[in-house]
Amino acid sequence: MQHVMVIGGGVVGLTTAWSLLEAGFEVSLVEREAELAQGASRANGGQLSYRYVSPLADSGVPLKALRWLFEPDSPLHFRPQWSLHQWMWLASFLSNCRGSVNRRTTQRLLALGAFSQTCFSDLYAHANLDGVSLRTPGKLVIYRTAGEFADVATRLRNDPKTIERVLSYQECLSVEPALARSPVQLAGGIFTVGEAVADCYALSLQLAERLRAHSHFKGFVHAQGQGFVITDGKAVALRTDQGDLSATAFVIAAGLQSRALALTAGVRLPIYPLKGYSLTAPIGPEHKPPVVSVTDIEKKVLYAQIGGELRVAAMADLVGEDTRIDPARMASLYRSVKATFPDAAGYEASKEWAGLRPATPSGAPILGATPVAGVWLNVGHGALGFTMSFGAARIVADLIAGRESPISMDGLSH
Ligand SMILES: Cc1cc2nc3c(=O)[nH]c(=O)nc-3n(C[C@H](O)[C@H](O)[C@H](O)COP(=O)(O)OP(=O)(O)OC[C@H]3O[C@@H](n4cnc5c(N)ncnc54)[C@H](O)[C@@H]3O)c2cc1C
Repeated sequence: MQHVMVIGGGVVGLTTAWSLLEAGFEVSLVEREAELAQGASRANGGQLSYRYVSPLADSGVPLKALRWLFEPDSPLHFRPQWSLHQWMWLASFLSNCRGSVNRRTTQRLLALGAFSQTCFSDLYAHANLDGVSLRTPGKLVIYRTAGEFADVATRLRNDPKTIERVLSYQECLSVEPALARSPVQLAGGIFTVGEAVADCYALSLQLAERLRAHSHFKGFVHAQGQGFVITDGKAVALRTDQGDLSATAFVIAAGLQSRALALTAGVRLPIYPLKGYSLTAPIGPEHKPPVVSVTDIEKKVLYAQIGGELRVAAMADLVGEDTRIDPARMASLYRSVKATFPDAAGYEASKEWAGLRPATPSGAPILGATPVAGVWLNVGHGALGFTMSFGAARIVADLIAGRESPISMDGLSH
């Protein structure tokens, strides 16, 4: 039986390991930290956003970003660095900021999202997941500006295939009564049934338990992957700080650090950290939290109830590989949240977190083979890694097993 080694113990690596076991491989997983899922998968927004994919790179974004640079509470923050990588990524991101590219990426992510939703249902049933705070309340995207709302509403009304519902302000209130207590004046909203929320961290840990119990799982190795030993164009081992680990094939699923690992196999990955923040606030009997999952599109803030708490996630900061909590950014997030849903949760008792989204310039992940035999990729999941992990894992496992990808790989491979 072939042995596949997965590098990275976040939600992407763990789902990949599971799909590989299901495909009949022996599997091991290498994680550099003493605990699993401490990276971007730790306290993200928790949204399983299969239909609302909204890649950041779009035609209006460079202008908006310029404006945001001068706004203290802007959803985007840029700290220029002496880093060729930062500037090259930015240049590539800007070249992706076109309507045509955005539409293509959106179609690719929608196809991956639909497939991922199916794979999530399979995983949920087969891995017998419980205690992951799964709910399917639907997603309401709220608009403050009439112009922006009118553009989206017109596009959706002209799309006979859409399942999104265009809602007036009054209709938004009946979908999400907590908005009635908000001082914010809305232009309207878009509601999508079937969108879900879950606790990504709890799911990751539970999946790790299911892996441990699987007869073909060879175990977790806590070691730092440093590069590949390549013989005759084929990877035969992973070099680590604990010595070389051999396997028949390797899947890089190391989030942000995938770039450094892939480089040792001669593969350049355009992945840059988009730093985001979350806060998790307790919900008491006196609070009136939103029930559906809410995206405040212009502020770029997500709200979701996850297991009796309110998770709020926001911001995309280009500040390099820095996970420190910037008090000014956190204060800005609190201002925005309290001005939108003032009595939704006990914000003063929030747990604060910052994480780095492993983002590609277009917003599409990179899956599948590399020019080096035996080295495979499941990387660059950016803002949607939780949502897409289930489908991406299945695709990569199928490809390693020598099968066709279940969906088109156009724009999703290296
Ligand atoms: C604020 C915020 C909100 C978000 N909200 C959502 C959301 O609502 N919905 C959604 O779908 N997505 C969301 N995301 C995105 C999602 O969290 C990420 O895309 C996803 O967690 C990426 O998973 P990953 O496994 O690739 O990376 P990670 O979770 O970072 O895992 C990578 C793992 O690899 C390990 N590793 C790294 N290098 C090595 C090495 N050399 N050797 C061994 N191990 C290594 C790391 O220690 C880590 O455990 C959000 C992200 C942020 C930051």
